[in-house]
Amino acid sequence: MKCILSVDVEDWFHILEIPDAPNVDEWGTLHSRIEENFVKLLDIIDERNVKVTCFFLGWVAAKYPHLVREASQRGHEIASHGYYHELVYRMTAQEFLEDITKTKTLLEDISGKKVSGYRSAGFSTTESTPWFFEKLVQAGYEYDSSIFPAPRAHGGMKSNLYAPYAVNVGSSRIIEFPISVKNVLGFPICFFGGGYLRFFPYIISRRMAKKVLKDNRPVIFYIHPREIDPGQPRLKMNITRRFKSYFNLRSTRSKIVKIMDDFELTTFRSFINEYFNVEEVTNGEKRSS
Ligand SMILES: [Zn+2]
Repeated sequence: MKCILSVDVEDWFHILEIPDAPNVDEWGTLHSRIEENFVKLLDIIDERNVKVTCFFLGWVAAKYPHLVREASQRGHEIASHGYYHELVYRMTAQEFLEDITKTKTLLEDISGKKVSGYRSAGFSTTESTPWFFEKLVQAGYEYDSSIFPAPRAHGGMKSNLYAPYAVNVGSSRIIEFPISVKNVLGFPICFFGGGYLRFFPYIISRRMAKKVLKDNRPVIFYIHPREIDPGQPRLKMNITRRFKSYFNLRSTRSKIVKIMDDFELTTFRSFINEYFNVEEVTNGEKRSS
């Protein structure tokens, strides 16, 4: 089974929930590093001829539309990471609908292609957002990759559904790709993205990824452009957050290359086209692990 490599396209200052994080009005005044980091990341990925899904923050796409076009022209999938990087559980259902609709329309206008995927900021889909899938369907999305089936700082959801599954919403359905976890001593742990990928030695992430594949699940890898940039400015935060945000940044680049060498990778869209049989899965009752 193929795995999926995804990029959450946001800048160095889009780190969630820290008291000194710059607010939206200040974003435009900060020295951005997204253009350089994102193109560098695309170059690394293109060298291995891999196609990835790029979840663009709407704000980034509006400011740097050429990055959306560049990724699209290189054959990568364009998807939505919401407009302002707001946590889902901080929004009302209506605010959420407006945010994801605005982002989808913008990305489609820029890329000229249909946008069908969504990922929330910080995997902030929780039990307190029961309208989540309904609003995604209403906005025209066909899949989501926001559920983190393990405890975490923002978001995280208790769920034993680890494999992709379909959720029925009225007469429509949407496919959920939970972030990959593997149980260790009964606890679900992620080894495959962001701070988790940087923290664990690659050999461990690789071994766990092979185990996920043995469970007949794709591994969902996720990275941010800022994670290949050890020279990025540091935001003020407590020691735990500093560790999570900046630990081992120098390791990311080589880990990405190793992932591309060791696993067969594709985009969410291609994965759905290749593996998802509409009749096969309904409402998540199957394929748990
Ligand atoms: Zn994000």
